[in-house]
Amino acid sequence: MAELDKTQREVGVPGDWTYASAPESRDIVHIDDRYGYFVGGKWLEPSETYETIAPRDEEPLAAIGQATAEDVGRAVAAAREAYADGWSALPGSERAKYLFRIARLLQERSREFAVLESLNGGKPIKESRDVDIPLAAAHFFYYAGWADKLEYAFPNRRPRPVGVAGQIIPWNFPLLMLAWKVAPALACGNTVVLKPAETTPLTALLFCDVLRQAELPPGVVNIVTGDGRTGAAIVESEDVDKIAFTGSTEVGKEIQRRLAGSGKRLTLELGGKAANIVFDDAALDQAVEGIVNGIYFNQGHVCCAGSRLFVQESIYEPLVAKLERRLTTLRVGDPLDKNTDVGAINSAAQLEKIQELVASGKEEGAEIFQPPCVLPEKGYWFAPTVFTNVAQSYRIAQEEIFGPVLSVLTFRTPEEALEKANNTPYGLSAGVWTEKGSRILWMAQRLRAGVVWANTYNRFDPGSPFGGYKESGFGREGGRHGLEPYLRFDE
Ligand code: NDP
Repeated sequence: MAELDKTQREVGVPGDWTYASAPESRDIVHIDDRYGYFVGGKWLEPSETYETIAPRDEEPLAAIGQATAEDVGRAVAAAREAYADGWSALPGSERAKYLFRIARLLQERSREFAVLESLNGGKPIKESRDVDIPLAAAHFFYYAGWADKLEYAFPNRRPRPVGVAGQIIPWNFPLLMLAWKVAPALACGNTVVLKPAETTPLTALLFCDVLRQAELPPGVVNIVTGDGRTGAAIVESEDVDKIAFTGSTEVGKEIQRRLAGSGKRLTLELGGKAANIVFDDAALDQAVEGIVNGIYFNQGHVCCAGSRLFVQESIYEPLVAKLERRLTTLRVGDPLDKNTDVGAINSAAQLEKIQELVASGKEEGAEIFQPPCVLPEKGYWFAPTVFTNVAQSYRIAQEEIFGPVLSVLTFRTPEEALEKANNTPYGLSAGVWTEKGSRILWMAQRLRAGVVWANTYNRFDPGSPFGGYKESGFGREGGRHGLEPYLRFDE
Protein backbone atom coordinates (compact mmCIF):
# COMPACT_ATOMS: atom_id res chain seq x y z
CA MET A 1 0.00 0.00 0.00
CA ALA A 2 2.83 2.31 0.95
CA GLU A 3 4.47 1.46 -2.35
CA LEU A 4 1.31 2.29 -4.31
CA ASP A 5 1.09 5.70 -2.67
CA LYS A 6 4.69 6.32 -3.63
CA THR A 7 4.00 5.45 -7.31
CA GLN A 8 1.03 7.78 -7.42
CA ARG A 9 3.11 10.63 -6.04
CA GLU A 10 5.83 10.02 -8.61
CA VAL A 11 3.52 9.83 -11.64
CA GLY A 12 1.42 12.78 -10.60
CA VAL A 13 -1.91 13.84 -12.03
CA PRO A 14 -1.73 15.58 -15.42
CA GLY A 15 -2.78 19.18 -15.08
CA ASP A 16 -3.41 19.67 -18.79
CA TRP A 17 -6.03 17.51 -20.51
CA THR A 18 -5.73 19.00 -23.99
CA TYR A 19 -5.53 16.49 -26.80
CA ALA A 20 -2.31 15.75 -28.63
CA SER A 21 -2.75 16.19 -32.37
CA ALA A 22 -3.79 13.03 -34.24
CA PRO A 23 -3.59 13.89 -37.93
CA GLU A 24 -4.88 11.41 -40.48
CA SER A 25 -2.25 10.79 -43.15
CA ARG A 26 -3.15 12.10 -46.59
CA ASP A 27 -0.73 9.69 -48.29
CA ILE A 28 -3.61 7.41 -49.21
CA VAL A 29 -4.96 10.05 -51.57
CA HIS A 30 -3.55 10.74 -54.99
CA ILE A 31 -4.62 14.02 -56.56
CA ASP A 32 -3.86 14.70 -60.24
CA ASP A 33 -2.57 18.13 -61.20
CA ARG A 34 -5.44 18.62 -63.62
CA TYR A 35 -8.86 17.10 -64.20
CA GLY A 36 -11.12 17.06 -67.23
CA TYR A 37 -14.73 15.86 -67.55
CA PHE A 38 -15.86 12.27 -67.31
CA VAL A 39 -18.03 11.82 -70.40
CA GLY A 40 -19.00 8.54 -72.07
CA GLY A 41 -16.54 6.68 -69.84
CA LYS A 42 -13.57 8.80 -71.01
CA TRP A 43 -11.79 11.90 -69.77
CA LEU A 44 -12.36 14.98 -71.94
CA GLU A 45 -9.73 17.71 -71.89
CA PRO A 46 -11.04 21.07 -70.64
CA SER A 47 -10.35 24.26 -72.56
CA GLU A 48 -10.47 26.37 -69.40
CA THR A 49 -9.66 25.50 -65.77
CA TYR A 50 -9.85 26.97 -62.28
CA GLU A 51 -8.05 25.98 -59.09
CA THR A 52 -9.63 23.98 -56.29
CA ILE A 53 -8.07 24.48 -52.86
CA ALA A 54 -8.01 23.10 -49.34
CA PRO A 55 -10.03 25.52 -47.19
CA ARG A 56 -7.98 24.69 -44.08
CA ASP A 57 -4.89 26.50 -45.45
CA GLU A 58 -5.76 27.60 -48.99
CA GLU A 59 -3.31 25.07 -50.46
CA PRO A 60 -3.95 24.66 -54.21
CA LEU A 61 -4.96 21.04 -54.87
CA ALA A 62 -5.70 20.71 -58.59
CA ALA A 63 -6.78 22.47 -61.77
CA ILE A 64 -10.43 21.71 -62.50
CA GLY A 65 -12.25 22.03 -65.82
CA GLN A 66 -14.77 24.80 -66.30
CA ALA A 67 -17.27 23.06 -68.54
CA THR A 68 -18.91 25.11 -71.27
CA ALA A 69 -22.38 24.61 -72.74
CA GLU A 70 -20.74 22.55 -75.53
CA ASP A 71 -19.06 20.29 -72.96
CA VAL A 72 -22.37 19.86 -71.19
CA GLY A 73 -23.96 19.06 -74.57
CA ARG A 74 -21.41 16.26 -75.09
CA ALA A 75 -22.15 14.85 -71.65
CA VAL A 76 -25.91 14.94 -72.26
CA ALA A 77 -25.45 13.25 -75.66
CA ALA A 78 -23.36 10.50 -74.01
CA ALA A 79 -26.04 10.03 -71.36
CA ARG A 80 -28.77 9.84 -74.01
CA GLU A 81 -26.82 7.30 -76.01
CA ALA A 82 -26.20 5.12 -72.96
CA TYR A 83 -29.89 5.39 -72.04
CA ALA A 84 -31.07 4.30 -75.49
CA ASP A 85 -28.27 1.84 -75.96
CA GLY A 86 -29.26 -0.63 -73.31
CA TRP A 87 -29.17 0.88 -69.82
CA SER A 88 -32.88 1.74 -69.66
CA ALA A 89 -33.85 -1.71 -70.97
CA LEU A 90 -31.52 -3.64 -68.67
CA PRO A 91 -33.39 -5.85 -66.19
CA GLY A 92 -33.50 -4.32 -62.71
CA SER A 93 -31.55 -7.23 -61.28
CA GLU A 94 -28.66 -6.40 -63.66
CA ARG A 95 -28.70 -2.70 -62.79
CA ALA A 96 -28.67 -3.70 -59.12
CA LYS A 97 -25.40 -5.58 -59.61
CA TYR A 98 -23.65 -2.39 -60.68
CA LEU A 99 -25.08 -0.48 -57.73
CA PHE A 100 -24.01 -3.17 -55.28
CA ARG A 101 -20.53 -3.05 -56.82
CA ILE A 102 -20.34 0.72 -56.45
CA ALA A 103 -21.46 0.44 -52.81
CA ARG A 104 -18.83 -2.15 -52.02
CA LEU A 105 -16.09 -0.18 -53.77
CA LEU A 106 -17.01 2.91 -51.78
CA GLN A 107 -16.70 0.87 -48.61
CA GLU A 108 -13.36 -0.56 -49.67
CA ARG A 109 -12.00 2.86 -50.56
CA SER A 110 -13.74 4.70 -47.73
CA ARG A 111 -10.60 6.02 -46.06
CA GLU A 112 -9.36 7.49 -49.32
CA PHE A 113 -12.70 9.19 -49.92
CA ALA A 114 -12.90 10.45 -46.34
CA VAL A 115 -9.45 12.05 -46.45
CA LEU A 116 -10.14 13.66 -49.82
CA GLU A 117 -13.55 14.94 -48.69
CA SER A 118 -12.05 16.59 -45.61
CA LEU A 119 -9.14 18.01 -47.52
CA ASN A 120 -11.21 19.59 -50.28
CA GLY A 121 -14.26 20.54 -48.21
CA GLY A 122 -12.88 21.38 -44.75
CA LYS A 123 -15.14 19.07 -42.73
CA PRO A 124 -13.65 17.10 -39.79
CA ILE A 125 -12.30 13.70 -40.79
CA LYS A 126 -14.38 12.02 -38.08
CA GLU A 127 -17.51 13.25 -39.87
CA SER A 128 -16.45 12.31 -43.41
CA ARG A 129 -15.18 8.95 -42.09
CA ASP A 130 -18.16 8.11 -39.86
CA VAL A 131 -21.05 9.88 -41.58
CA ASP A 132 -20.57 11.05 -45.18
CA ILE A 133 -18.83 8.07 -46.73
CA PRO A 134 -20.68 5.25 -44.91
CA LEU A 135 -24.00 6.92 -45.69
CA ALA A 136 -23.02 7.37 -49.36
CA ALA A 137 -22.27 3.63 -49.59
CA ALA A 138 -25.50 2.85 -47.71
CA HIS A 139 -27.51 4.79 -50.31
CA PHE A 140 -26.09 2.68 -53.12
CA PHE A 141 -26.82 -0.51 -51.17
CA TYR A 142 -30.33 0.66 -50.39
CA TYR A 143 -31.27 1.63 -53.96
CA ALA A 144 -29.58 -1.48 -55.37
CA GLY A 145 -32.20 -3.36 -53.39
CA TRP A 146 -35.06 -1.47 -55.09
CA ALA A 147 -33.80 -1.80 -58.69
CA ASP A 148 -35.59 -5.10 -59.38
CA LYS A 149 -38.61 -4.36 -57.18
CA LEU A 150 -40.01 -1.23 -58.75
CA GLU A 151 -43.18 -3.06 -59.79
CA TYR A 152 -43.73 -3.92 -56.12
CA ALA A 153 -42.95 -0.41 -54.94
CA PHE A 154 -45.62 0.98 -57.28
CA PRO A 155 -48.07 -1.84 -57.92
CA ASN A 156 -50.24 -1.64 -61.07
CA ARG A 157 -48.55 1.57 -62.20
CA ARG A 158 -45.95 0.28 -64.73
CA PRO A 159 -42.94 2.28 -63.50
CA ARG A 160 -40.50 3.25 -66.23
CA PRO A 161 -37.38 5.44 -66.26
CA VAL A 162 -37.66 9.12 -67.07
CA GLY A 163 -34.56 9.43 -69.31
CA VAL A 164 -31.51 11.64 -68.78
CA ALA A 165 -31.28 13.25 -65.34
CA GLY A 166 -29.33 16.49 -64.85
CA GLN A 167 -28.14 16.68 -61.26
CA ILE A 168 -26.62 19.72 -59.56
CA ILE A 169 -25.23 19.36 -56.06
CA PRO A 170 -23.78 21.64 -53.36
CA TRP A 171 -20.50 21.69 -51.43
CA ASN A 172 -21.61 20.76 -47.94
CA PHE A 173 -21.86 16.96 -48.42
CA PRO A 174 -20.20 16.42 -51.81
CA LEU A 175 -20.07 12.62 -52.08
CA LEU A 176 -23.21 12.06 -50.03
CA MET A 177 -25.28 14.40 -52.20
CA LEU A 178 -23.90 12.63 -55.26
CA ALA A 179 -25.04 9.30 -53.80
CA TRP A 180 -28.50 10.70 -52.91
CA LYS A 181 -28.96 11.65 -56.55
CA VAL A 182 -27.06 9.04 -58.58
CA ALA A 183 -28.22 5.90 -56.71
CA PRO A 184 -32.01 6.28 -57.19
CA ALA A 185 -31.58 7.57 -60.77
CA LEU A 186 -29.59 4.49 -61.79
CA ALA A 187 -31.79 2.08 -59.86
CA CYS A 188 -34.76 3.32 -61.88
CA GLY A 189 -32.96 2.96 -65.24
CA ASN A 190 -32.03 6.58 -65.93
CA THR A 191 -28.67 7.95 -67.01
CA VAL A 192 -27.03 10.95 -65.40
CA VAL A 193 -25.12 14.17 -66.00
CA LEU A 194 -23.94 15.48 -62.64
CA LYS A 195 -22.20 18.70 -61.66
CA PRO A 196 -20.47 18.87 -58.29
CA ALA A 197 -20.08 22.26 -56.59
CA GLU A 198 -17.29 24.51 -57.79
CA THR A 199 -15.38 24.36 -54.49
CA THR A 200 -15.63 20.60 -53.85
CA PRO A 201 -15.24 18.61 -57.08
CA LEU A 202 -12.57 16.12 -56.00
CA THR A 203 -14.60 13.26 -54.51
CA ALA A 204 -16.99 13.32 -57.48
CA LEU A 205 -13.94 13.03 -59.76
CA LEU A 206 -12.53 10.16 -57.67
CA PHE A 207 -15.96 8.54 -57.92
CA CYS A 208 -15.38 8.25 -61.69
CA ASP A 209 -12.62 5.78 -60.87
CA VAL A 210 -15.10 3.75 -58.82
CA LEU A 211 -17.41 3.70 -61.85
CA ARG A 212 -14.54 2.41 -63.97
CA GLN A 213 -13.78 -0.31 -61.39
CA ALA A 214 -17.45 -1.26 -61.27
CA GLU A 215 -17.42 -1.50 -65.09
CA LEU A 216 -20.51 0.65 -65.34
CA PRO A 217 -21.33 1.00 -69.05
CA PRO A 218 -19.88 4.21 -70.58
CA GLY A 219 -22.18 7.22 -70.52
CA VAL A 220 -24.48 5.98 -67.73
CA VAL A 221 -22.91 8.51 -65.34
CA ASN A 222 -21.17 11.62 -66.68
CA ILE A 223 -19.49 14.20 -64.46
CA VAL A 224 -18.93 17.78 -65.60
CA THR A 225 -17.27 20.37 -63.37
CA GLY A 226 -17.48 24.14 -63.29
CA ASP A 227 -19.26 27.02 -61.61
CA GLY A 228 -22.89 28.11 -61.78
CA ARG A 229 -22.65 28.63 -65.55
CA THR A 230 -22.13 24.89 -66.01
CA GLY A 231 -25.14 24.21 -63.77
CA ALA A 232 -27.22 26.65 -65.83
CA ALA A 233 -26.13 24.88 -69.05
CA ILE A 234 -27.40 21.56 -67.63
CA VAL A 235 -30.71 23.17 -66.72
CA GLU A 236 -31.07 24.68 -70.18
CA SER A 237 -30.03 21.57 -72.09
CA GLU A 238 -32.91 20.53 -74.36
CA ASP A 239 -32.25 16.83 -74.07
CA VAL A 240 -32.38 16.55 -70.28
CA ASP A 241 -35.65 15.08 -68.97
CA LYS A 242 -35.31 15.80 -65.29
CA ILE A 243 -33.42 18.22 -63.09
CA ALA A 244 -32.56 17.42 -59.48
CA PHE A 245 -31.05 20.36 -57.61
CA THR A 246 -29.78 20.85 -54.07
CA GLY A 247 -28.53 24.28 -53.08
CA SER A 248 -29.69 27.76 -52.25
CA THR A 249 -33.33 28.85 -52.43
CA GLU A 250 -32.32 31.73 -54.69
CA VAL A 251 -30.81 29.47 -57.38
CA GLY A 252 -33.62 26.95 -56.90
CA LYS A 253 -36.20 29.63 -57.70
CA GLU A 254 -34.22 30.69 -60.76
CA ILE A 255 -34.16 27.08 -62.01
CA GLN A 256 -37.89 26.72 -61.45
CA ARG A 257 -38.51 29.89 -63.47
CA ARG A 258 -36.31 28.61 -66.30
CA LEU A 259 -38.05 25.23 -66.43
CA ALA A 260 -41.61 26.53 -66.21
CA GLY A 261 -43.54 25.25 -69.21
CA SER A 262 -40.67 23.10 -70.49
CA GLY A 263 -42.24 19.82 -69.40
CA LYS A 264 -39.02 18.82 -67.64
CA ARG A 265 -39.35 17.21 -64.24
CA LEU A 266 -37.88 19.09 -61.28
CA THR A 267 -37.06 18.38 -57.65
CA LEU A 268 -35.58 21.06 -55.42
CA GLU A 269 -33.91 20.58 -52.06
CA LEU A 270 -33.19 24.08 -50.81
CA GLY A 271 -32.31 25.96 -47.66
CA GLY A 272 -33.67 25.79 -44.14
CA LYS A 273 -33.88 27.60 -40.83
CA ALA A 274 -34.86 24.76 -38.57
CA ALA A 275 -36.35 25.11 -35.11
CA ASN A 276 -34.85 22.90 -32.41
CA ILE A 277 -37.37 23.06 -29.56
CA VAL A 278 -36.51 22.12 -25.97
CA PHE A 279 -39.31 21.68 -23.42
CA ASP A 280 -38.71 21.95 -19.69
CA ASP A 281 -39.13 18.21 -19.10
CA ALA A 282 -36.35 17.26 -21.55
CA ALA A 283 -33.17 15.54 -20.43
CA LEU A 284 -30.99 18.65 -20.51
CA ASP A 285 -27.55 17.09 -20.99
CA GLN A 286 -28.88 14.95 -23.83
CA ALA A 287 -30.55 18.00 -25.34
CA VAL A 288 -27.29 19.97 -25.16
CA GLU A 289 -25.54 17.23 -27.16
CA GLY A 290 -28.36 17.32 -29.70
CA ILE A 291 -28.20 21.10 -29.96
CA VAL A 292 -24.42 20.96 -30.52
CA ASN A 293 -24.81 18.23 -33.12
CA GLY A 294 -27.70 20.15 -34.68
CA ILE A 295 -25.76 23.33 -35.38
CA TYR A 296 -22.01 22.66 -35.19
CA PHE A 297 -21.98 19.41 -37.22
CA ASN A 298 -20.18 20.17 -40.50
CA GLN A 299 -19.56 23.78 -39.30
CA GLY A 300 -23.30 24.38 -39.64
CA HIS A 301 -23.06 23.96 -43.42
CA VAL A 302 -26.19 21.84 -43.25
CA CYS A 303 -29.52 22.69 -44.87
CA CYS A 304 -31.40 21.03 -42.00
CA ALA A 305 -29.16 22.52 -39.25
CA GLY A 306 -31.00 23.33 -36.02
CA SER A 307 -30.06 27.00 -36.30
CA ARG A 308 -32.95 28.41 -34.22
CA LEU A 309 -33.01 27.04 -30.70
CA PHE A 310 -36.32 27.52 -28.88
CA VAL A 311 -36.03 26.99 -25.12
CA GLN A 312 -38.94 26.89 -22.67
CA GLU A 313 -38.51 29.92 -20.43
CA SER A 314 -38.27 28.01 -17.13
CA ILE A 315 -35.11 26.17 -18.24
CA TYR A 316 -33.54 28.95 -20.26
CA GLU A 317 -30.76 29.84 -17.82
CA PRO A 318 -29.52 26.35 -16.91
CA LEU A 319 -29.71 25.21 -20.52
CA VAL A 320 -27.78 28.17 -21.92
CA ALA A 321 -25.17 27.78 -19.14
CA LYS A 322 -24.71 24.10 -20.00
CA LEU A 323 -24.56 24.88 -23.71
CA GLU A 324 -21.93 27.58 -23.32
CA ARG A 325 -19.86 25.33 -21.08
CA ARG A 326 -20.09 22.54 -23.70
CA LEU A 327 -18.97 24.95 -26.41
CA THR A 328 -15.71 25.57 -24.57
CA THR A 329 -14.88 21.86 -25.02
CA LEU A 330 -15.34 21.82 -28.81
CA ARG A 331 -12.05 21.42 -30.64
CA VAL A 332 -11.82 23.71 -33.65
CA GLY A 333 -8.99 23.08 -36.09
CA ASP A 334 -7.39 20.92 -38.75
CA PRO A 335 -10.09 18.91 -40.55
CA LEU A 336 -7.67 16.02 -40.95
CA ASP A 337 -7.07 15.75 -37.19
CA LYS A 338 -9.11 12.89 -35.76
CA ASN A 339 -9.88 14.93 -32.61
CA THR A 340 -11.35 17.89 -34.45
CA ASP A 341 -15.02 18.67 -33.80
CA VAL A 342 -15.38 21.80 -35.94
CA GLY A 343 -13.34 22.13 -39.14
CA ALA A 344 -12.75 24.87 -41.69
CA ILE A 345 -15.39 27.01 -43.37
CA ASN A 346 -15.78 25.80 -46.94
CA SER A 347 -14.83 28.95 -48.84
CA ALA A 348 -13.89 32.61 -48.52
CA ALA A 349 -17.31 33.56 -49.90
CA GLN A 350 -19.13 31.49 -47.28
CA LEU A 351 -16.96 32.91 -44.49
CA GLU A 352 -17.81 36.41 -45.64
CA LYS A 353 -21.51 35.58 -45.60
CA ILE A 354 -21.27 34.22 -42.04
CA GLN A 355 -19.30 37.25 -40.86
CA GLU A 356 -21.80 39.63 -42.40
CA LEU A 357 -24.79 37.94 -40.77
CA VAL A 358 -23.03 37.71 -37.39
CA ALA A 359 -22.23 41.43 -37.58
CA SER A 360 -25.92 42.11 -38.29
CA GLY A 361 -26.85 40.08 -35.20
CA LYS A 362 -24.61 42.19 -32.98
CA GLU A 363 -25.86 45.38 -34.55
CA GLU A 364 -29.51 44.45 -34.08
CA GLY A 365 -28.90 43.89 -30.36
CA ALA A 366 -28.30 40.17 -29.81
CA GLU A 367 -25.71 39.05 -27.28
CA ILE A 368 -22.87 36.97 -28.67
CA PHE A 369 -20.97 34.12 -26.99
CA GLN A 370 -17.90 32.48 -28.53
CA PRO A 371 -15.67 30.13 -26.56
CA PRO A 372 -12.02 31.10 -26.33
CA CYS A 373 -10.28 29.30 -29.19
CA VAL A 374 -7.23 30.02 -31.27
CA LEU A 375 -8.11 29.91 -34.93
CA PRO A 376 -5.44 29.02 -37.50
CA GLU A 377 -4.04 32.02 -39.34
CA LYS A 378 -4.34 30.63 -42.85
CA GLY A 379 -7.53 29.26 -44.32
CA TYR A 380 -11.17 30.00 -43.50
CA TRP A 381 -12.28 29.73 -39.90
CA PHE A 382 -15.13 30.79 -37.69
CA ALA A 383 -15.54 30.05 -33.98
CA PRO A 384 -18.69 28.26 -32.79
CA THR A 385 -21.12 31.01 -31.89
CA VAL A 386 -24.25 31.36 -29.77
CA PHE A 387 -26.53 34.38 -29.90
CA THR A 388 -28.91 35.03 -27.00
CA ASN A 389 -31.34 37.88 -26.59
CA VAL A 390 -32.53 37.31 -30.15
CA ALA A 391 -35.83 38.72 -31.45
CA GLN A 392 -37.83 36.86 -34.08
CA SER A 393 -37.35 39.76 -36.48
CA TYR A 394 -33.54 39.74 -36.43
CA ARG A 395 -31.83 38.58 -39.61
CA ILE A 396 -29.97 35.90 -37.65
CA ALA A 397 -33.37 34.42 -36.71
CA GLN A 398 -34.78 34.70 -40.22
CA GLU A 399 -32.01 33.99 -42.75
CA GLU A 400 -30.05 30.83 -43.38
CA ILE A 401 -26.50 31.52 -42.11
CA PHE A 402 -25.08 28.14 -43.13
CA GLY A 403 -22.35 28.43 -40.53
CA PRO A 404 -21.64 27.49 -36.88
CA VAL A 405 -24.00 30.13 -35.51
CA LEU A 406 -26.95 29.42 -33.22
CA SER A 407 -29.75 31.85 -32.33
CA VAL A 408 -31.49 31.17 -29.01
CA LEU A 409 -35.10 32.23 -28.51
CA THR A 410 -37.64 31.38 -25.79
CA PHE A 411 -41.27 30.31 -25.47
CA ARG A 412 -43.75 29.58 -22.68
CA THR A 413 -46.36 27.20 -24.13
CA PRO A 414 -46.34 24.49 -26.81
CA GLU A 415 -48.66 26.68 -28.92
CA GLU A 416 -46.22 29.56 -28.76
CA ALA A 417 -43.30 27.27 -29.65
CA LEU A 418 -45.21 25.99 -32.64
CA GLU A 419 -46.19 29.42 -33.89
CA LYS A 420 -42.64 30.73 -33.61
CA ALA A 421 -41.12 27.60 -35.15
CA ASN A 422 -43.42 27.81 -38.17
CA ASN A 423 -42.78 31.53 -38.59
CA THR A 424 -40.24 31.09 -41.38
CA PRO A 425 -40.36 30.89 -45.16
CA TYR A 426 -38.51 27.56 -44.88
CA GLY A 427 -39.78 24.13 -43.85
CA LEU A 428 -37.10 21.49 -44.08
CA SER A 429 -36.59 20.08 -40.59
CA ALA A 430 -37.23 20.52 -36.88
CA GLY A 431 -36.31 18.96 -33.54
CA VAL A 432 -38.41 18.40 -30.42
CA TRP A 433 -36.96 17.57 -27.01
CA THR A 434 -39.40 16.34 -24.35
CA GLU A 435 -40.09 13.30 -22.20
CA LYS A 436 -43.74 13.29 -23.31
CA GLY A 437 -44.55 11.07 -26.27
CA SER A 438 -47.94 12.71 -26.78
CA ARG A 439 -46.32 16.13 -27.02
CA ILE A 440 -43.86 14.87 -29.61
CA LEU A 441 -46.75 13.64 -31.75
CA TRP A 442 -48.74 16.84 -31.21
CA MET A 443 -45.80 18.97 -32.30
CA ALA A 444 -44.74 16.71 -35.19
CA GLN A 445 -48.23 16.87 -36.70
CA ARG A 446 -48.22 20.66 -36.65
CA LEU A 447 -44.65 21.59 -37.49
CA ARG A 448 -44.39 22.56 -41.17
CA ALA A 449 -41.17 20.65 -41.76
CA GLY A 450 -40.27 17.69 -43.94
CA VAL A 451 -38.37 15.95 -41.14
CA VAL A 452 -39.06 16.18 -37.41
CA TRP A 453 -36.51 14.58 -35.10
CA ALA A 454 -37.58 13.70 -31.55
CA ASN A 455 -34.96 13.68 -28.78
CA THR A 456 -32.23 13.49 -31.40
CA TYR A 457 -31.02 15.55 -34.34
CA ASN A 458 -29.34 15.19 -37.73
CA ARG A 459 -30.07 11.48 -38.04
CA PHE A 460 -30.09 10.15 -41.58
CA ASP A 461 -30.96 6.83 -43.09
CA PRO A 462 -31.29 5.88 -46.77
CA GLY A 463 -34.69 4.34 -46.01
CA SER A 464 -36.09 7.62 -44.70
CA PRO A 465 -37.36 10.28 -47.12
CA PHE A 466 -35.92 13.79 -46.84
CA GLY A 467 -37.22 17.03 -48.34
CA GLY A 468 -39.00 20.27 -47.64
CA TYR A 469 -42.09 22.42 -47.54
CA LYS A 470 -42.42 26.01 -48.68
CA GLU A 471 -39.12 27.65 -49.71
CA SER A 472 -37.17 24.55 -48.70
CA GLY A 473 -38.25 22.98 -51.97
CA PHE A 474 -40.29 20.01 -53.14
CA GLY A 475 -39.77 16.35 -53.91
CA ARG A 476 -38.25 13.75 -51.62
CA GLU A 477 -34.89 12.02 -51.64
CA GLY A 478 -34.33 8.77 -49.80
CA GLY A 479 -36.68 5.89 -49.14
CA ARG A 480 -39.27 4.57 -51.54
CA HIS A 481 -40.41 8.18 -52.06
CA GLY A 482 -36.98 8.94 -53.52
CA LEU A 483 -37.65 6.59 -56.45
CA GLU A 484 -40.73 8.42 -57.65
CA PRO A 485 -39.04 11.52 -59.16
CA TYR A 486 -37.00 9.17 -61.39
CA LEU A 487 -39.98 7.23 -62.73
CA ARG A 488 -42.86 7.87 -65.06
CA PHE A 489 -46.06 5.95 -64.85
CA ASP A 490 -47.81 6.71 -68.13
CA GLU A 491 -49.19 3.76 -70.07
P1 NDP B 1 -25.76 27.56 -54.88
O1 NDP B 1 -27.22 27.34 -54.83
O2 NDP B 1 -25.24 28.64 -55.75
O3 NDP B 1 -25.01 26.22 -55.30
C1 NDP B 1 -25.58 24.94 -55.45
C2 NDP B 1 -25.17 24.30 -56.77
O4 NDP B 1 -25.80 24.98 -57.87
C3 NDP B 1 -23.68 24.40 -57.07
O5 NDP B 1 -23.26 23.26 -57.77
C4 NDP B 1 -23.62 25.64 -57.93
O6 NDP B 1 -22.46 25.74 -58.68
C5 NDP B 1 -24.84 25.46 -58.79
N1 NDP B 1 -25.35 26.69 -59.41
C6 NDP B 1 -25.09 27.99 -59.10
N2 NDP B 1 -25.78 28.82 -59.89
C7 NDP B 1 -26.52 28.04 -60.73
C8 NDP B 1 -27.45 28.33 -61.79
N3 NDP B 1 -27.78 29.56 -62.11
N4 NDP B 1 -28.02 27.28 -62.42
C9 NDP B 1 -27.73 26.01 -62.07
N5 NDP B 1 -26.85 25.69 -61.09
C10 NDP B 1 -26.26 26.69 -60.42
O7 NDP B 1 -25.25 27.76 -53.41
P2 NDP B 1 -23.90 28.50 -52.97
O8 NDP B 1 -22.80 27.54 -53.04
O9 NDP B 1 -23.74 29.79 -53.71
O10 NDP B 1 -24.24 28.84 -51.48
C11 NDP B 1 -25.00 30.01 -51.18
C12 NDP B 1 -25.92 29.75 -50.03
O11 NDP B 1 -26.84 28.74 -50.38
C13 NDP B 1 -25.24 29.22 -48.80
O12 NDP B 1 -24.71 30.24 -48.04
C14 NDP B 1 -26.36 28.51 -48.13
O13 NDP B 1 -27.11 29.41 -47.38
C15 NDP B 1 -27.18 27.97 -49.26
N6 NDP B 1 -26.92 26.56 -49.56
C16 NDP B 1 -27.82 25.65 -49.21
C17 NDP B 1 -27.58 24.31 -49.44
C18 NDP B 1 -28.56 23.28 -49.06
O14 NDP B 1 -28.21 22.10 -48.98
N7 NDP B 1 -29.80 23.63 -48.85
C19 NDP B 1 -26.34 23.85 -50.04
C20 NDP B 1 -25.46 24.90 -50.44
C21 NDP B 1 -25.75 26.20 -50.19
P3 NDP B 1 -21.20 26.45 -58.00
O15 NDP B 1 -20.77 25.61 -56.87
O16 NDP B 1 -20.21 26.42 -59.05
O17 NDP B 1 -21.63 27.82 -57.62
